Amino acid sequence: MLNIVLFGPPGAGKGTQSEKLITKYGLTHLSTGDLFRKHLGEGTDLGKLAKKYMDEGHLVPDEVVIQMVEDKISNSENSSGFIFDGFPRTTAQAEALDKMLANHGMAISGMIALDVPFQILKERIIERGKTSNRVDDQNEEKINTRIKVYLDETLPVAKYYEKQGKFKEINGVGEINDIFNEISETIDRY
Ligand code: ADP
Repeated sequence: MLNIVLFGPPGAGKGTQSEKLITKYGLTHLSTGDLFRKHLGEGTDLGKLAKKYMDEGHLVPDEVVIQMVEDKISNSENSSGFIFDGFPRTTAQAEALDKMLANHGMAISGMIALDVPFQILKERIIERGKTSNRVDDQNEEKINTRIKVYLDETLPVAKYYEKQGKFKEINGVGEINDIFNEISETIDRY
């Protein structure tokens, strides 16, 4: 069973690499951002709640995110493992994830962090905003808020896994396939 946390700031390439990893390793992709956008598209109460936070670049409250992830894990009983993308984003979420996985007889294999300089992140997100229809990608102030939220609230999650000896950082700038190969080499050592 492989359970990987793909980590990094907004625009680091987590979604792109996740798509390739689920194909190669047969894992279930669990992207909290994608799940929220699905709810939003379907107009559910959860989607409406999340939208208020997402559009401003703020985090959706922990208890809401954790419940959604718990449901997804419980509904994926036959999975051979997960790629967690955009989750956990706070230390409280990381602690909750460890407990949830333990309840299902699983554990995190490792965290892989994509390292990308902030100037490049901003350029990538602005480029994505031209076609993504994402309100949070289309405004420089909101992009700056997301980067600040990442630094203040999400970066401590890296320390959480570092303390457990499960942290590995990879350069997220370069050819998509080269980055993918480096991630794969790390996973193959788990
Ligand atoms: P990006 O990595 O480009 O910021 P995501 O799709 O991962 O995009 O997330 C978009 C938004 O969804 C976040 O800015 C936040 O509002 C919300 N969100 C996603 N995952 C979480 C999470 N684990 N905790 C809180 N909010 C989240």
